[in-house]
Amino acid sequence: MNPIAIPDTPYLLLTPGPLTTTASVKQQMLGDACTWDDDYNNLVQRVGARLVELATAAEGYTSVLMQGSGTACVESVIGSAVPADGKLVVMANGVYGKRIAQIADYLQIPYHLLDAGETATPDLVALQNLLTSDSEITHVAVVHSETTTGMLNPIDEIGRIVKAAGKTYIVDAMSSFGGIEMDLAELQIDFMISSANKCIQGVPGFGFVIARREAMQQIAGRARSLSLDLYDQWQCMEEHNGKWRFTSPTHVVRAFAQALNELEQEGGVAARAARYQANHRTLVAGMRALGFKTLLDDGLMSPIITSFYSPEHADYSFKRFYELLKARGFVIYPGKVSAADCFRIGNIGDIQPADMERLLAAIAESCYWQARPVAGAR
Ligand SMILES: *Cc1c(COP(=O)(O)O)cnc(C)c1O
Repeated sequence: MNPIAIPDTPYLLLTPGPLTTTASVKQQMLGDACTWDDDYNNLVQRVGARLVELATAAEGYTSVLMQGSGTACVESVIGSAVPADGKLVVMANGVYGKRIAQIADYLQIPYHLLDAGETATPDLVALQNLLTSDSEITHVAVVHSETTTGMLNPIDEIGRIVKAAGKTYIVDAMSSFGGIEMDLAELQIDFMISSANKCIQGVPGFGFVIARREAMQQIAGRARSLSLDLYDQWQCMEEHNGKWRFTSPTHVVRAFAQALNELEQEGGVAARAARYQANHRTLVAGMRALGFKTLLDDGLMSPIITSFYSPEHADYSFKRFYELLKARGFVIYPGKVSAADCFRIGNIGDIQPADMERLLAAIAESCYWQARPVAGAR
């Protein structure tokens, strides 16, 4: 048989995970680590401790890593935190919010879905009313940076409402943690979920949860799945010095530790957030100059990913646009909004404003549906 041809990847990933990682992060994957060796487990412990430091300055928080993609980690939290007689409120304004409701469907957890559509902010009055009218509610879940559109949800205001009602607060901060400054204690978050391959700039393979230690201690025996039992995984890591219950993604963990070091070297979350914002600003200004329109108004956009309306031209096809950009060294992301024809460009990963300038030049060359070059194109 012929060997399987493995294509080169001579492009920058402008997608929200996996994303472009540094050579030094990838380099760490060349080591084959032993999963029960002390050196490896110590590394896991230091990674967990660093995540807690990044998440809050307050005491009383803990972390746990979980194999799988980010969704597995969300499913692990929903399935392990909500008790058998519990009820969830899911606030959604995009695919990732709705996915939490879908997880609840699979796990047969009763829930209310507060769906704001895809381009509106969550309805806080409706949340308040629900919490007042249904005393069976125990947990509220929301996405911070809704990667469907790039919208940033007001997790501080939602947290105040949730905690005033005495409920447990779950935040999917998958595409924002490490790229936008936040403090879990100030935001009153009980369980926060993110993953290796977003703003920390690691490679895919596991997610992680940062939780209030007391909230974590309360969830023993609630899990609806063995491999996604968050409490059991946490207990194993706590009691056995960073040991995972089942085969751990050793190469990914080593790369992630390097990614955490590089986040420090960059100047921490504040510096990274500033770079992502600069990427976003460069992108939006350049795209507007080329005649593209953003899906969201300026006040609603996050610096993580930006949605643009597709050109209203009969000859436009995303596939062709994508291929032209790929040939020029950039990979962009299709739209996920159902109500509008869009494409998306990620601002996160090992990407600098200068890369965005080069991207804009490539886009100006790739507007094949325009007969003449666009005014303002460089
Ligand atoms: C990336 C992402 C996820 C998880 O996606 P996976 O494909 O399972 O890694 C969940 N929520 C949000 C907001 C995300 O951006």
